[in-house]
Amino acid sequence: MLLELRSVVDRVLAAPDRSARGTLPPIRLSQNEMPWAPSGAVTAAMTDAVRNAHRYPDYHRRAARTAVAEAMGLTQERIAIDNGSGSLLHALARLVCEPGVHGVRPAPSFEAYNAALSLAGAESTEVGLDTGGAMDLDAMLAPIGPDTRIVYLCNPNNPTGGLRSAGDIRDFLRRVPARVLVVVDEAYREFVSAEPVDATVGLLEEFENLVLLRTLSKAHGLAGLRVGYAAAAPRIAEALRRTSVGFALNSVAEAAVIATMGPDGSAVLRERVAAIVAERVRVEATLRAGNVPFVPSQANFLFLRGDAADISSRLEARGVLARPFQQAGGVRVTIGLPEENDAVLAALR
Ligand code: PMP
Repeated sequence: MLLELRSVVDRVLAAPDRSARGTLPPIRLSQNEMPWAPSGAVTAAMTDAVRNAHRYPDYHRRAARTAVAEAMGLTQERIAIDNGSGSLLHALARLVCEPGVHGVRPAPSFEAYNAALSLAGAESTEVGLDTGGAMDLDAMLAPIGPDTRIVYLCNPNNPTGGLRSAGDIRDFLRRVPARVLVVVDEAYREFVSAEPVDATVGLLEEFENLVLLRTLSKAHGLAGLRVGYAAAAPRIAEALRRTSVGFALNSVAEAAVIATMGPDGSAVLRERVAAIVAERVRVEATLRAGNVPFVPSQANFLFLRGDAADISSRLEARGVLARPFQQAGGVRVTIGLPEENDAVLAALR
């Protein structure tokens, strides 16, 4: 047992220390955050919650779940909220996996799917993307076998920004056995302009094995608060709620959920998302005109194709911190304020 513990600890310690980053360049476009601080309405709600921080938050997270459910046009039995969608995607793997079972995940994509599956003891098959940097749904069907318990889809995909339509996701779900959990990670859904933002929500009625995962870290601009939510069949949402750590959603985060999902919060969200999407369109047009290779995106970032080290150092020279993907052959850069995006464009000229 002790030996086993030692080898687990050694494995963790061998991984690079992500806190040892040194001084950050001034333009942070490496983590797909929003460039603005929380709105007045959200800050006021959080400040109120701070004044009552000597009390525990609501154990059942009812008001927060209701706020999310109303914003999605669903009932609150279908909602689970936790501290970050990262926590939820790990929890989903733990719910359905045990040693020896199998999962399917995309690559290059969000790294946490791999971690979630391996920590839950599952084997996994990594599947490449389609030519648009989106989920290759046919290829993701192929490795599904009798031992497969879970499939992760990232839509739009991080780091490439490619989107598969709600219709494509429906066709995929029709072909997946109902015993396999299909987790569609929609962390960047609010930035989608190719189809209505809530186009996938209706699929929950049709498919009991579907989970939609969303977060307040991206379009809602609250990454530091750590809030994510899942919309699913009531029994899956309930299983997530029952297995969550008690009080994991703190009272400041709870207040922020209610404020950002309410009418004032939604108006700010719409305005800010529209500004980011307009900038995405402008940056893409400028890159296209300059023959700079990139993947067209439906998210708040762009994947610049080329030598990752070379692109990163050109960006750094302009004070821009982006995220290199050496193996995938490119650099992911978040869409920020117009002047920040101008610094990116100047570096690539
Ligand atoms: N899914 C994707 C695709 C992401 O890119 C991220 C954050 N980078 C997350 C989930 C996790 O978000 P959260 O902050 O809610 O844990």
